[in-house]
Amino acid sequence: MNVSSKQESALTVHIGNDLLIRIVGQANRDLPIETCGMLLGYRDRTIATVTAFAPCRNVAPDRLVAYEIDPDAILKQIRADSAEPESNKRLIGFYHSHPTGSANLSPHDISAAWPDMLQLIVSPSTNRTGLTQNRFKFFWHNGDSVYAMDVVPTANPCLH
Ligand SMILES: [Zn+2]
Repeated sequence: MNVSSKQESALTVHIGNDLLIRIVGQANRDLPIETCGMLLGYRDRTIATVTAFAPCRNVAPDRLVAYEIDPDAILKQIRADSAEPESNKRLIGFYHSHPTGSANLSPHDISAAWPDMLQLIVSPSTNRTGLTQNRFKFFWHNGDSVYAMDVVPTANPCLH
């Protein structure tokens, strides 16, 4: 499976700069291991709005070069979402860091991507201030292919 170009992306992500800065901060604090967690928010057909994130334990055997989100945390979130289907903090994706690499999907990331879920890759860097485009990238698996997503950083993501 290949990563398709941005132009073909049908889903745009809206996320507050404050959330991105905090996720990058988590990735930096967790160095040298890969950090990971869940992206929470809500979706319609064309826009995914991230309203919160939930850091999770990385339970991979070698956390320096891999990540595996604690499955109990995912299960707990999915149960909470079924109990409250109108919540604006539903599971809409996952994030993890590439401590020594770029914010691009690895072949493993592509094969392991969950259909219909956002994937945020964060690349921590020695420059700990500010957000630059190459420090994070969003991808979306639509069931057939993985797409690079357009990102609209917002000061205050609108809540339902
Ligand atoms: Zn990865």
